[in-house]
Amino acid sequence: MDNRIYLSTKEMPSKYYNILPDLPTPLAMPLNPATKQPISPNDLAAIFPNALIEQEVSQQRFIDIPEEVREIYSLSRPTPLYRAFRLEKLLGTPAKIYYKYEGANPAGSHKINTAVAQAYYNKQEGVKKLVTETGAGQWGSALSIATNHFGMELEVYMVKVSYHQKPYRRTIMQLHGANVYASPTNRTNSGKAILEENPDSPGSLGIAISEAVELAASNPDVNYALGSVLNHVMLHQTIIGEETRLQFEKVGDYPDIIIASAGGGSNFAGLSFPFLRDKLSGTKKDLRVIAVEPSSCPTLTRGKLAYDFGDTAGYTPLLKMYTLGHNFMPPAIHAGGLRYHGMAPTVSNLLKNNMIEAMSFKQIEVFDAAKIFLQTEGILPAPESAHAVKAAMIEAEKCKQTKEGKTIVFNLSGHGFLDLASFETYLNNKMEDYQLPEETIFRYFADLPQIDE
Ligand SMILES: *Cc1c(COP(=O)(O)O)cnc(C)c1O
Repeated sequence: MDNRIYLSTKEMPSKYYNILPDLPTPLAMPLNPATKQPISPNDLAAIFPNALIEQEVSQQRFIDIPEEVREIYSLSRPTPLYRAFRLEKLLGTPAKIYYKYEGANPAGSHKINTAVAQAYYNKQEGVKKLVTETGAGQWGSALSIATNHFGMELEVYMVKVSYHQKPYRRTIMQLHGANVYASPTNRTNSGKAILEENPDSPGSLGIAISEAVELAASNPDVNYALGSVLNHVMLHQTIIGEETRLQFEKVGDYPDIIIASAGGGSNFAGLSFPFLRDKLSGTKKDLRVIAVEPSSCPTLTRGKLAYDFGDTAGYTPLLKMYTLGHNFMPPAIHAGGLRYHGMAPTVSNLLKNNMIEAMSFKQIEVFDAAKIFLQTEGILPAPESAHAVKAAMIEAEKCKQTKEGKTIVFNLSGHGFLDLASFETYLNNKMEDYQLPEETIFRYFADLPQIDE
């Protein structure tokens, strides 16, 4: 058997899968942050186009992928599904390990799948400029490619430590014509407030979101774009799993275990939701689906299911999700894309209903797994994706114990070739594992907004 399973451009799926009508319990309504009442579409129209607001609450199971979006996808999609023969051999496991390689996309991760769709729907409604935040730069660089394609302007608020310490993705954004600012800035009230308190603030994703949302809300022809968490983002990412289903059909296989890293939940949702459809309908009751996170930002494994803000200043709608509290400051781990305090409401709903599982790992063991993967399969995983590699190795080793030839598939959400500084830290034995005491976690639960339910 070939180690790569390809689909032709013609075979690319033409519809996204919307999990909302199939969830075991209805999704809790988002609340207006000021009134704490269910949010109206009007509240959202200041920052999002109507098409995305509709997708956010749509009960339609399949949604057409616009032709122009499919055209841009076809620059790199369908992405290959690989069989990790050499990793299987090294582990001596009877399990079959597959991975979907989203690092093959422009900017090197899955984020382009929603970036292109969001830019397209905004452009359709006459929006000329988007504003967003980015941590290590994966989301900002993906969106800069998309806005460049559609001839739109882009302003990016990049977490200040990353702006200075991780300049390469900033350069990619600038090459695509985006204006990138080190957040917190003096350009917004939320940024100014933080700087007054602490002029040396290193910034955080929560602060950068506040800045971007504030700007979008106060400018009628500017909209905001978010790279994860929201229902419409999960929807656009399902192209990953829809392709993977077709690829498994080609080789006559079907996964027993699906694994992906989870920061805000989008690459996890993208791979797993199209398969979870079979579990939710009762045809694949035994399918196991595992979300993997860092032990130092343990949203699913130690967080609380509650209404919380998506940002630090409290401008975003309140979402019911697993959260560590909007003031939680995760330790400075190298998997920047997994340092978010909350989790997508859809993913949170599925965990609460026991449809999925969650696991967490410390960063040194995750980097060990990344090294083994590079040495066997030849691809350096992004530190985020390496969490999925680690979990896949553990499940494959369990199969060795039980002598079961299970089929495991994980999402290799991105490559790590722009994260070499982190791998250098690892090689020089300068990498630390952080402990997160129970008191630290409980402290931030106290800041959760009080909601009568
Ligand atoms: C952003 C990112 C993640 C985490 O975000 P999700 O929305 O949870 O997918 C994971 N892997 C890579 C490569 C990323 O860039």
